[in-house]
Amino acid sequence: MKKHINIPIFIPHMGCPHNCIFCNQVKISGHSRPDFENIKNEIENALATTDPKKQEIQLAYFGGSFTGIDRDDLEYLLKLGKSYIDSGKIDSMRCSTRPDYINEDIIGLLKENGMKTVELGVQSCSDEVLRINERGHTSEQSERAAKLIVSSGMQFVGQMMIGLPGSDEEKEIATATRISEWGASASRIYPCVVLKNTKLAEMTKEGRYVPLTITEAAERSEKAFEVFLNHGVDVIRIGLQSTDNLTDGSDIAFGEYSETIGEMCLSIYFEKLLRKNVSRECCKGKILEVLVNPKRVSSVSGYRKVNKNRIIEEFSLIDMKIKGCSGIGEFDMRTTITGR
Ligand code: SF4
Repeated sequence: MKKHINIPIFIPHMGCPHNCIFCNQVKISGHSRPDFENIKNEIENALATTDPKKQEIQLAYFGGSFTGIDRDDLEYLLKLGKSYIDSGKIDSMRCSTRPDYINEDIIGLLKENGMKTVELGVQSCSDEVLRINERGHTSEQSERAAKLIVSSGMQFVGQMMIGLPGSDEEKEIATATRISEWGASASRIYPCVVLKNTKLAEMTKEGRYVPLTITEAAERSEKAFEVFLNHGVDVIRIGLQSTDNLTDGSDIAFGEYSETIGEMCLSIYFEKLLRKNVSRECCKGKILEVLVNPKRVSSVSGYRKVNKNRIIEEFSLIDMKIKGCSGIGEFDMRTTITGR
C-alpha cells in the first residue's frame, strides 16, 4: 500500500471578514492576493522529494477558508492542482474551509478540479458556543455543508475545538457525535489555546474566560476521541500543529500549550481501556501481560511510565509487561494474567 503524504500549502485568508474570538490572523483590509509564484515553487520543491510510485501524494490547501478567497484566485489554485493531477505528479487535492463557504456551486468547482477531501471548521455544534465565539455561522450551516460534501462523493473531515468559551464536555461529545453522524471520514480535535492579539486573550485577562489546564484539555479531548473511535471515524490530529512560537510560548497569552497533548490523550484512553479489561481481584501478586499494536506501546505505558507504575501499584501486580503485536488494532489490546 502506498504511504499517504500531504504537500501542505497555507493560503491565508487575508481579507477574512470574520472575527472568531480565538483567531490571531492579522486582519488586513482590502483584497490581498496569494503569492502564486511562491506557491508553485513550494509545490515543485516538495515534489522534488516525493516518489509518486511509492507515495499517494495529496496537495493540501490549508488556511481556514480556502473556498472563501477571491473566485479568480480559487479557480487559479484549483486548476494549478488539477494540472499536477493530470500530469500524474500528485494523486488528489484536499482543502480546509468554513461551513458557510460551501454551496452547490463551490462543490461543483471543487469536484471538477479533482478535489478529494474537504475539511470543515465545524468547531462546535452548539449555536450558543458558535455565537459566543463569533464564528459567524450556525450548526445548521455546518450540517448542510457536511452533507453536501458527502453526497458529492468527496470525503468530509470535521474539525472541532475543545474548551471554547460557553462549551462543556456534554456539548463537545454532542459535536463529535454529530460530525460522525454527518458521515465524516476523519476528524481533527483542537483544544483551545489562548493566543496573543485575540479577543479571547482580552476576555481571559478580564476574568471572563478561564482556560482549561493541559490535563483537563487532554481529558476532554479523549472523550471526543472515544466518540469518533466508536463511530469508526479516524482522528488524524489532536492539538495544534506545533510551531516555534507555540513551543517557546511567545504566541501564547494565557494558559498552557503542549505539543504532546495527542499522546497525553491516548495515554488516558489506554489507561481507561486497561481498567475495563482487567479485574483487580485477579491481579494481586501476578504479572499482567499487555499486547498492543507496536505503534501504541508507549501510549499504554504512559508519559514517563505513569500508567504502568500506577496500575502496578493499584492492582498489586508484581510486574506489567507491554509488548507490541502487529496483529492487534491500533486502539485495542489483549491482556493475560500469569503467575510468577
Ligand atoms: S478562524 Fe475565523 S477569523 Fe480566523 S481566519 Fe478563520 S474564519 Fe477568519
